[in-house]
Amino acid sequence: MKAEIIAVGTELLLGQIVNTNAQYLSQGLANLGIDVYYQTVVGDNAARLQQAIETARSRADLLIFTGGLGPTQDDLTKDALAELLGRKLVMHEPSMAKIEKLFSSRGMHMVESNRRQALMVEGAEALDNETGLAVGNALTADDKHYLLLPGPPREMKPMFDGPASDWLRRISGRTNALYSRILRFSGIGESSLEAALLPLIEGQSDPTIAPYAKEGEVAIRLSTKGVNEAEAYARIDGMVKQIEALVGQYLYAKEDIPIEQAVVNQLRNSAQTVATAESCTGGLLAELLTSVVGSSGAFGGGVITYTNAMKHTLLGIPLGQLEGEGAPGAISESTAALMAERIMETAGADFGVSITGVAGPSSSEGKPVGLVYVAIAAKGLDTEVHELQLSGNRGVIRLRAVKSALFRLWK
Ligand code: ATP
Ligand code: MG
Repeated sequence: MKAEIIAVGTELLLGQIVNTNAQYLSQGLANLGIDVYYQTVVGDNAARLQQAIETARSRADLLIFTGGLGPTQDDLTKDALAELLGRKLVMHEPSMAKIEKLFSSRGMHMVESNRRQALMVEGAEALDNETGLAVGNALTADDKHYLLLPGPPREMKPMFDGPASDWLRRISGRTNALYSRILRFSGIGESSLEAALLPLIEGQSDPTIAPYAKEGEVAIRLSTKGVNEAEAYARIDGMVKQIEALVGQYLYAKEDIPIEQAVVNQLRNSAQTVATAESCTGGLLAELLTSVVGSSGAFGGGVITYTNAMKHTLLGIPLGQLEGEGAPGAISESTAALMAERIMETAGADFGVSITGVAGPSSSEGKPVGLVYVAIAAKGLDTEVHELQLSGNRGVIRLRAVKSALFRLWK
């Protein structure tokens, strides 16, 4: 079954809102095993909407609309489709009753246009709207299927996940559900990962291997179709083994979690804690760690010591280490090590992590943009320091430095 998503709304064309519904629907349809061949965006204009429908009908079996189910004059998805199909709009009484009830319970006056939200294309099945008033429509006519969903994501998502998915499973027969697993990698770039996996990617057919970059890290999606669940995961796990043999040292999770989550899980499992001392990343490392639910069991605390004076006052790093003729400087292996060790001691943590470097755009201490030192101190062990040469703009360098620190800690 070939599907086309039609997002309706002039705001989309003007760039005032981002078409997140298309992304959500595409992901959801892939999970249902329905192939999306096209995504279309069209404004709130009846003639152009009908043109878009005609085009979509010529190349897809299933048309999924989002937007334009509301009460106002520019909401014309149902009208346009009904006219094209030569059908009437009919009142869906339960939806009408729901709208009337809401208005009377709030003591609000109902205007005629509110009734429009309860209209349905004749012959369509009503899809309940848990979080709003506009009723969804699901319709099959002349061998084509039409699904009409509201525009607001908070209404569209529950309708899609609930009644619309049930309908889609029915019409598609659900014979080719897609099974997939995500593998997450750190410490390796997307292109290097792809190069390392080339022998597998080139010979691939099933499961398919799709690498993609995600939040400063890299992920791979392995997918397979059209078999039962047990067989699908057996195939996928076979492929995971081959991938591990090639790039296992960078694989930190066989599920879709960011590295900070993997770090927190690991620390909690071993009942250990970490503390952070950051310079050029300005607290981003602490931010990512604390964004993980349950991080309080794993994260002691952190400092941002941006200036030499703060590195001296808060972490007790000798000024002679940081500045003056022949001093290693703030951006150096030895300063990174001291920062990590001092914060570990101060916080009474099992690990100390530090980051000091040049995020750019201009160099610092005569050192080049992208030079970053990450140190990992661990109780009773020698401190390790990693020198990184990162590329990208300031934001990218900072994110990569933090992700890299998290990965070294995870190792
Ligand atoms: P309403 O009853 O609110 O009028 P509707 O079904 O008529 O809903 P629209 O009028 O097209 O939908 O859009 C309403 C709002 O929903 C938009 O202002 C926007 O915030 C959001 N929205 C619409 N389409 C999309 C989309 N494709 N992606 C993300 N958000 C969207
Ligand atoms: Mg609207």
